Amino acid sequence: MQSITALEKDPYFRLKLILVCLSVAVLVSIIYVTVVYKMAADIVTTTEFNAAMTEAKNLQYVIDTHTLDVAKRRVKAILKQHYADNVSENEVAYGFLMLNTPTPFSFSNLPSHTIRSITSQTSIHNETTNQGVVDVDGQEYVWIHLKSKKNADILLIKSAQSISLAVDYITQRLIITSIITFWIAVWLALFLATRINNEVQAKNDALAHIATHDTLTKLPNRLHLFSICKIEIQDLIAKQSIHSEQKSGALLLIDLNNFKEINDAYGHNIGDEVLIGFSQRIQKVLSDKEVLVRMGGDEFVIWGRELDESTALALSNQIQVACHNTLIINDLSIEINPSIGISLLFQHATDLDNLMTNADLAMYQSKSNHLGPVIYDGTLGASYLYAAKLRGDLSEAIIKDQIFLLYQPKIELKTGRLIGVEALARWNHPIEGMISPIHFIPLIEKSVHIHKFTRYVIEKSIKQVKQWQNNGIETTIAVNISPYNLLDDDFVEDIGLLLETHQVPVSSLEVELTETAMMCDISSTKSSLQKLRKLGLSVAIDDFGTGLSSLSYISQLDTNVIKIDRSFVMDMNTNHHNLAIVEAIVGLSNRLNWDVVAEGIETKEQLQTLSALGCQYGQGYYFERPLPEENVTSLLLENKHYSI
Ligand code: C2E
Ligand code: CA
Ligand code: CA
Repeated sequence: MQSITALEKDPYFRLKLILVCLSVAVLVSIIYVTVVYKMAADIVTTTEFNAAMTEAKNLQYVIDTHTLDVAKRRVKAILKQHYADNVSENEVAYGFLMLNTPTPFSFSNLPSHTIRSITSQTSIHNETTNQGVVDVDGQEYVWIHLKSKKNADILLIKSAQSISLAVDYITQRLIITSIITFWIAVWLALFLATRINNEVQAKNDALAHIATHDTLTKLPNRLHLFSICKIEIQDLIAKQSIHSEQKSGALLLIDLNNFKEINDAYGHNIGDEVLIGFSQRIQKVLSDKEVLVRMGGDEFVIWGRELDESTALALSNQIQVACHNTLIINDLSIEINPSIGISLLFQHATDLDNLMTNADLAMYQSKSNHLGPVIYDGTLGASYLYAAKLRGDLSEAIIKDQIFLLYQPKIELKTGRLIGVEALARWNHPIEGMISPIHFIPLIEKSVHIHKFTRYVIEKSIKQVKQWQNNGIETTIAVNISPYNLLDDDFVEDIGLLLETHQVPVSSLEVELTETAMMCDISSTKSSLQKLRKLGLSVAIDDFGTGLSSLSYISQLDTNVIKIDRSFVMDMNTNHHNLAIVEAIVGLSNRLNWDVVAEGIETKEQLQTLSALGCQYGQGYYFERPLPEENVTSLLLENKHYSI
């Protein structure tokens, strides 16, 4: 897996940028100061040279145009006129020498040792240059060397005061300018560094966001979970070694039931909207201490560092409550129903991979038993393997005729007469023995065998009714169908064909569909039920009261039988709330002219209460358990009446 560290912020990036910008600023300042200093110094020196050269040429002219003695006098007079006799502060020091003549001549306001020192350094005898600068005791002097017409060497020396004055002046200004330049450069560096840093970090953040988030739901993705949450887990483990009593951290794996069917029935666009709507519902119940991650498809994970067993369970329940209302997408009302598996840090695993595996096992368990959120326990792994094994054996089950039916009598409560039966499937597994439909129906529903299986059960039931009819028994048989069967376009037509083939009147067959099964939009369920009703079949809503559909929703369906769920009948004599529900369902069914069947009657009191409420039919262990064919045939033959 790609590591997120490549996208993490460089904490020193801004500092590095500032240092680079500052270095550039300092370099620019140094270059600027050096160049300006050099240029200024050059200009001043050139001015000094030019002035000295003009003076030297004037003196050369005097020498060239006069006799030597006159020239000396004149030169002296000129120099005296221009310069002071003694060099004091602010006075120009000068020296004039005429060499290479019969009588050398010099005139100066400088001490003779200074003159000697200068002449020893000048390049008078160097023919390549006739001017230069020398430094004696910290004072700079310019010198000009010319040749008179009589070939005498004329050397004019002048203290280059203006050079040092100008350089001092320039240096002072330069220091001020360079400080200002430096500060401007520093601020520019800071500004640029901040700007570049912000831009780079914004791009980096955007890239990191793309890499670690799901584009559809905008939620963090798997990569996020395996980087950020992994760090939190390590952190919690490290903390736990110090405070051993503190144990928190839970991972919830959430999977939408029937998402595949929603996608198949309505298309991927609606499927996408369902995922978005679902994720928004979950997010509403999360605090900022939990993070919701989309792992892919319809699988989501919540990681909560402060969750423990009870808070994780409470959160799961909140999620289920948040999903109670259907999602309305393009006028479709779609039920969302999540399965949630929980695994706890420390109790169940100490690393993310194992937390995921365990939460997955718990989620799978939650999906198969439809009993809400499941917390992982060690035995789940085994049951998961068991389920996987059973799934593998399913295809053989039908071929090898391992599935058979039991029949539970349905009784008219007013008379006690046995008026029909419900076919209930059993799987006689060659190794595992008898397997309850509670365990294998959910497996079949998730496999490709569901259509074949239901067709098989219906055909067996039709054949059974036919056999009873051949023996002079008139009764009805109810079969349970799966919601997935309604997605099969040929389903209704197939039932019609089977009835026709076996010459069984359509009034002998009933179908039962659980209320929770009607999760999808009303129009699709409605049209499938309409087709069944059009064929002439009686349609019962099974386990009524356990689903979340409103009465107005149910009243729109073309159905004619309601089966009150066993859970209400079970304790209605002690639980007023459930008694009220049963009363309401019976009242509603009577008003809508629906038959009402109470499931799970186990006691005489329950029977009496139901009769008093006006419930027409009942089923339950009080009368009979689901029975093998021979037993139920004898009951039907004797036209069994139960005492009421
Ligand atoms: P269901 O349709 O609600 O069936 C009633 C279940 O309650 C049956 O369990 C039955 O044995 C049980 N029962 C009946 N009376 C009583 C009672 O007085 N007390 C108690 N405690 N239980 C009672 P069973 O046979 O295990 O079936 C469980 C579920 O499996 C059924 O619930 C039905 O939803 C499903 N199922 C069974 N056969 C088929 C089938 O052929 N196709 C489909 N799609 N589902 C089936
Ligand atoms: Ca049923
Ligand atoms: Ca039922």
